[in-house]
Amino acid sequence: MSSASDGRHEPLGPPRANAYRDTWATGAIEQPIGKEIKVSGWAHRRRDHGGLVFIDLRDRSGLLQIVFHPEHAAKAHETAGTLRAEDVVSVKGKLVRRDDAVVNPNLPTGHLELQASKIEILARAETPPFQVDEDGPVDESLRLKHRYLDLRRGTIAPIIALRARVVRAMRRVLDERDFLEIETPNLTRPTPEGARDYLVPSRVKPGSWYALPQSPQLYKQLLMMGGLERYYQIARCFRDEDLRADRQPEFTQLDLEMSFVEEDDVIELTEAVLKEVLAEGGIEVETPFPRMCYDEAIGRFGKDAPDLRFGLEIVNLDDVFAKSEFKVFASVLSSGGTVRAINAGQRELSRADLDELTEFVKGHGAGGLVWAFVEDDGGWRSPIAKFLADDERAAAVSALDAKPGDLLLAVADAKSMTAAASLGALRENLAKRFDLIPFGEHKLVWVVKFPMLEFNDDEQRWDPLHHPFTAPDGDLDDPANLGSRAYDIVMDGWEVGGGSIRINTVEVQEKILEVIGIDRSEAEQRFGFLLEALKYGAPPHGGLALGLDRLVALIAGADSIRDAIAFPKSATGADPLTGAPSSVDEHQIRDLHLVSTAPPPAVDAVEGEVSES
Ligand code: ASP
Repeated sequence: MSSASDGRHEPLGPPRANAYRDTWATGAIEQPIGKEIKVSGWAHRRRDHGGLVFIDLRDRSGLLQIVFHPEHAAKAHETAGTLRAEDVVSVKGKLVRRDDAVVNPNLPTGHLELQASKIEILARAETPPFQVDEDGPVDESLRLKHRYLDLRRGTIAPIIALRARVVRAMRRVLDERDFLEIETPNLTRPTPEGARDYLVPSRVKPGSWYALPQSPQLYKQLLMMGGLERYYQIARCFRDEDLRADRQPEFTQLDLEMSFVEEDDVIELTEAVLKEVLAEGGIEVETPFPRMCYDEAIGRFGKDAPDLRFGLEIVNLDDVFAKSEFKVFASVLSSGGTVRAINAGQRELSRADLDELTEFVKGHGAGGLVWAFVEDDGGWRSPIAKFLADDERAAAVSALDAKPGDLLLAVADAKSMTAAASLGALRENLAKRFDLIPFGEHKLVWVVKFPMLEFNDDEQRWDPLHHPFTAPDGDLDDPANLGSRAYDIVMDGWEVGGGSIRINTVEVQEKILEVIGIDRSEAEQRFGFLLEALKYGAPPHGGLALGLDRLVALIAGADSIRDAIAFPKSATGADPLTGAPSSVDEHQIRDLHLVSTAPPPAVDAVEGEVSES
C-alpha cells in the first residue's frame, strides 16, 4: 500500500480561489516559479533548521513544503515557530525552486517550496493519539475510534478516493447503457438472502416491525414488473450475521436488474462494468472472463469461489484407492465418501508444520490430514506408507503428477463437500505460506451452473443456494438434481458478485417456495405481494449485485474490507467512533411499545475490538 503521507498525490482540478486557497498543495507543480499563491491545510510536520522554520503543509492533494525566513517575514516566522502537528493553517507566499541539494525525490512537489509571507492559524490541534504523519502500524481499534485522524493519514484516504472513482465508473457505464438509478426503501419487509434481519419497531403501529433490506432483491424485480427494464442502485444492505472475519453488518453493493435478458446479457454487461472499474485501479483485464461450472470449481479448487492465481489443484483419488485395504480409505469409500489430495510440490515441512496443517483441516471439518513425501525410489515417507500397496502409491503419484521430493496432502471423508472444502481452505493456506500468489496478479472467473438447492441436514429441508427467486433449470420434482440459472463473479478467490435469471411466472415461484418448505399460507403471508405481481405479466428478467466494499479492497490490495469503508464497524459489529450500538433513553423504548429483557449495560463503553475472528 502507498506510504502516501509523503508520496500521496491526488491530481485534482484547480480549486475555486477563495479566502483560504487559490491552489491545492500539490497543484503548486503547475504554477510558475515566482508566483504568489495561497494554500490551506494541516501542519503535517515542522522542522526548525538554521534559524528557518519548515512545515510540510498537507491538504487532500498531498504535501507542499513551506519555509519561513526570519528576515523576509518576521511575523509569519514567529507564528510558524509555535505550530504543532495538525494545526490548521492558511499560508500565502511565493513559489520558489529548492536548491538541488535539498530536492526531495519522494515528493511530487519535492523540487519546490513556498516562501511564506503570511500565515494564519485557523485552528489549533491537541497532540493526536497517534502520529498522522506516519503510515506505520497503529492498533486498529484506536484508528477506528479516531477514524477522522486515520483518514488524514496516507493509508486509508487513497482507498476511499479509489472507491469514489469506482462508483463513478459504474455509473458511467450503466448510464451510457440507459440504466435508471432508482432508490428502493430501507424500511421494508424481510428479504430472504439467508441472513438474520435487522428489525425496526414501528411506533405508530404497535407490535409491527420493519426489516432493513438484506438486499433490494424483491423491489428490483418489482421494478422490472413495473416496466422500467434497466435498473441500478448503489444500495446499502443489512445482514445481522455473526460477523465472521472481514464481514460488515451493513455493506454496499451495486445492484442491477434487466428485463428481456438471459445469462449472457447480464454477464456481458457486468464484464463491461468491471473492466472500467478495474481500470480505475490500474488493473487491465481482458473480456470475456472465463467461465467454470460449479461442480468443476468445487472439484478442482474446493470452493465455489476459486482462486486461479496459483495451482495446487485438488485431485480425486477415489479410483486410485477403490480397492485399498487401508482401513481409513476403504471405510470412507465404501460409505460413499471420497479421498482427495493436493500435490503441494517440493516442500520441506517439519512434523510441527504438518501437525499445524492437520489442525487446520480439522478446523474445516476434516477428520485428519494424510501426508506423504515422495522419495527418490518412488517410496513414501508417510505414516500410512506401509498400509498401501506399491501400485496404489504409484497410481496416486501419477494422478498427482508427483516427483521425488514432492509433498502430498490428502483428506478422506464420508462427505465429499467436507473433503473438498477442507482441501480448498488448505490450498489457500499453502499458497500464503509458500508465497505462491504473484504480486499484482488478478484472476476473474464466472462460476455458473449452480445447483438450485442444498440439503440442510440440521433442519432436514432443501434450502436455496442463492435465493428462492432464482430461475430453476431442470425438473422441479427432482430437487437433488435441480440446477439454477445463477452465476457468480469471482476475483482472486472472493465472490465479488452474483445474480441470476429470475422466476417470472407465479406457478414456478409457488412451486419453488413449496419445495423449500414454505407452504401456501406462509408464502401468501410473506411474499403475497410478489406472487400477485407475477400474475399480471412479468417479463423474463435477471440481474446481479457486485459487492463494492470487497471489490475496492481487492483493487487497492487492502488487507481488510474495513480499509475500503470510511466508517466501518468492528468485528463485533460495533462502531468504536460513536459507540453504536448503545443504550437509549427509557422513554424511547416505551414509545416503541417495547420492554427490554436485557440487563442494562453497566457503562455505555465504546467497543474497540476489531480483531478478525
Ligand atoms: N440479491 C442478490 C444478492 O444480494 C443479488 C442478485 O441476485 O441480484 O446477493
